[in-house]
Amino acid sequence: MRLILLGPPGAGKGTQAKMLTQKFNIPQISTGDILRKAVKDDTEIGQRAKQFMDGGCLVPDDLVIDLIKERIREPDCQNGFILDGFPRTNVQAEKLTETLKAMNVDIDAVVEFRVNPEEVVNRLTGRSTCSECGAMFHETSRPPKQAGICDHCGGALSKRPDDNKDTILKRLDVFKNETEPLKDFYRKQGTLKTAEGSGTAEEIFDRVCAMIS
Ligand code: AMP
Repeated sequence: MRLILLGPPGAGKGTQAKMLTQKFNIPQISTGDILRKAVKDDTEIGQRAKQFMDGGCLVPDDLVIDLIKERIREPDCQNGFILDGFPRTNVQAEKLTETLKAMNVDIDAVVEFRVNPEEVVNRLTGRSTCSECGAMFHETSRPPKQAGICDHCGGALSKRPDDNKDTILKRLDVFKNETEPLKDFYRKQGTLKTAEGSGTAEEIFDRVCAMIS
């Protein structure tokens, strides 16, 4: 199963990707997570990406395309993968199509999540993530049992530097201009499916599973 999750920041792509990973036993490939790790480790890629990420802009195409080309050829991707946050531009989508063709494999479905912008701002401003296991919490809809501590592993919860209102609005703008046009690209390829992104994570997951099975 090879899936692409498409949607604005805060649409729940990361949460759904984690649930799909467990169901299908295929890896989640999040370019955002890979880049955040590169920034944390202060690698050359991280140093190039940081300023774009902090400002809510996309990092240059060549940077993420090279990362993905290598990652989807790794052995754990043999039975499939879930692309979470890639592609985000036309160039990325075209390069991905080329790479998959060379590997003689296809994308099974592109799942687009629909969420309204006010909901996105609310979700992201209240979001925190475990720095150890990546579990996500929200101050009102999914609060941790103990403030600042992960329920699952006891790790410290932290907020992403780009989850502030101004940067969220910028990221929404970037999504509308650069990424939303990809819906047409995949509609033409016949792989686009649209999931209503409201409701609990479990409700959305059921919708997604019904679409892709
Ligand atoms: P995310 O975790 O998916 O919200 O991504 C966080 C940030 O990483 C984005 O705002 C971009 O700066 C960068 N990023 C992640 N994926 C991509 C991509 N496919 N193309 C360009 N920039 C990306």
